[in-house]
Amino acid sequence: MPDRQRLTQTLMELIRIDSPTGEEDAIDAHLSNLLANLGAVVRHDDYGNLVATLAGSDGSASQPPVMLSAHMDTVEPGRGIKPILDPDGETLRSDGTTILGGDCKAGLAIVVEGLTSAVEAGTPRRPVQVVFSRAEEGGLNGARNLDFSLVHAETGIVFDGEGPVSRICVGAPAQNIVQANITGVAAHAGLEPENGVSALLVAANILTRLPLGRIDEETTSNIGLLQGGLKRNIVPEHAYLDGELRSRNQAKLDNYTAEFERAFDQVASMYPLASIDLNIWSQYRAYSVSQDHPSLTLISRCVDASGLTPSTETTGGGSDANVFFEHGIAALPVGIGVRDFHTTRETANLSEIFDGARVCEALVAAE
Ligand SMILES: [Zn+2]
Repeated sequence: MPDRQRLTQTLMELIRIDSPTGEEDAIDAHLSNLLANLGAVVRHDDYGNLVATLAGSDGSASQPPVMLSAHMDTVEPGRGIKPILDPDGETLRSDGTTILGGDCKAGLAIVVEGLTSAVEAGTPRRPVQVVFSRAEEGGLNGARNLDFSLVHAETGIVFDGEGPVSRICVGAPAQNIVQANITGVAAHAGLEPENGVSALLVAANILTRLPLGRIDEETTSNIGLLQGGLKRNIVPEHAYLDGELRSRNQAKLDNYTAEFERAFDQVASMYPLASIDLNIWSQYRAYSVSQDHPSLTLISRCVDASGLTPSTETTGGGSDANVFFEHGIAALPVGIGVRDFHTTRETANLSEIFDGARVCEALVAAE
């Protein structure tokens, strides 16, 4: 049985170690130490992702391994975080000037406590592979660079979802990144505006032709950044667009991506003196599992065994799970008891995190 006090302490320690994306060395060292103390063989790939393998015990050593995953980095503002426990002893929050970092430190703490409890119990365990990635925030870069030859598990859990651990994410969208550099012609805005081609006007024209927002029930798109121009009295020569398309349906994503490309082409033909350098690429692919998928069945059983009622949902965001699926590992995200990710209002619920550790331990137990 997980130890709630120890779990809370582990979580507090992790939260107090700053780990904004790109600065994961300190938290990595702390976690490597905790996992090595449990008897795991801790390795790192070239990117710095942590892969720890804990052999099974008793007769279960030959069972296929299960993967337990979370990410080590946080978003900003995430330095000098001071976790504060509400008087009810249930809710952790920051002092309001930073995020809490419950995303994804609650996930890390759940894995550490679930494993610790399983090792202490001494009951038969199946082999486990822990994957703690770097640089998940802002592009899943750790997972995308993970050395998958180190990972032999084909099923598992990604502890990185909002809400309670009973919430199992069975589908997530694919994301395409859309970036464009537009070059017009600079000219003095007062003396010779007719000799200029405004890159901002070209960009605006493109924007009005793109399908944006919630395009259909499975697809969204956004241009989140438009930059350009230099000075009030110069017809702007440069503009830059940065956006995205997401869909849980890969075919729809491909179609809307083609529609984006057509809109850029149309505007390009309206402004022959301007040049548009458009770049669209796949950041990650979609996944979805059926109600009878073995990973879902396994996780549901563990949630059930912990006295909770499993529920399934799809999300509009990607996670390391998208990348794991691409590599044949069906690891589903579950909730980690955290809410308001990526905001200074972020909170973590200790009872739900404790439930997470119980589900984690149940997963590790050999049947
Ligand atoms: Zn996260």
